[in-house]
Amino acid sequence: MRLDGKVALVTGGGSGIGEGAARAFAREGARVAVVDLRREAAEAVAQAIQAEGGRAEAFVADVSNEEQIRQAVQGAAQRLDGLHVVFANAGINGMQTPIEEMTLEEWHLTIETNLTGTFLTIKHAIPFLRNAGGGSIIITASINGNVIFSLPGYSCYSTSKAGQVAFSKMAAAELARWGIRVNAILPGGVATNIRERTYRRNLEKVTYDIKMPRPFPPLTGRPATTDEVAELTLFLASDSSRNITGGEFLIDAGASLLRG
Ligand code: NAD
Repeated sequence: MRLDGKVALVTGGGSGIGEGAARAFAREGARVAVVDLRREAAEAVAQAIQAEGGRAEAFVADVSNEEQIRQAVQGAAQRLDGLHVVFANAGINGMQTPIEEMTLEEWHLTIETNLTGTFLTIKHAIPFLRNAGGGSIIITASINGNVIFSLPGYSCYSTSKAGQVAFSKMAAAELARWGIRVNAILPGGVATNIRERTYRRNLEKVTYDIKMPRPFPPLTGRPATTDEVAELTLFLASDSSRNITGGEFLIDAGASLLRG
């Protein structure tokens, strides 16, 4: 039980990578706060964890709304008795479109969800982690914006993901004095429902005709499963990674080795 006695908060816990991590954290003994914008999704994951014999509670919050995420973090620490692990994972692809066609509203929505939401989640978690004598923060960034720059229309998304990595390193340096570790994971393709929250407009105007060799990604030829990503997250959440902070961890089956 790698997280026995710990409390873990997962944003975007109602689906995909967040759901996989929430369930893995609970199986390893953590009491889990499942935070999501969508109430039904958060409640379904909390109930699934409870049905497996774990402890979890659902919290509804938009991570880009300071008051909502402040209340969710505070409520989680109060109801689950502390806070040790924070997985700042909520994110959207948003609108993929040529830069000259992107509206300011579309830009703001992606940046505020992915980057500002990460800042706000961590900002409000710090007092509780410090109170616990330390903790682990994990941020879901992406290979996009950090090691690959070739997906058409991903300018805003990639900018938000690069910002998250810079923020994770600044936070790691700032928070080390309190025993709080901060690491970023950089997934390649992961089989989730993110496409339901993805929009595309006129991408053909800015697309290069790039063909990837088969198999692609070279190691597996398929997207990662959420369980595979959860294994990495679990390692970073647990004391197994106690000497690791400020790191960025690729989990892309070698995709970025071939697609820069
Ligand atoms: P997903 O859509 O399956 O899950 C994301 C969850 O976040 C959803 O339940 C959604 O309701 C929630 N959410 C969205 N906006 C929110 C907000 N403002 N406040 C609170 N919750 C919100 O997607 P996923 O693939 O699991 O994505 C999780 C993270 O992983 C994102 O940050 C994404 O950028 C990143 N990522 C995903 C992939 C991939 O291939 N799926 C690759 C690299 C990085």
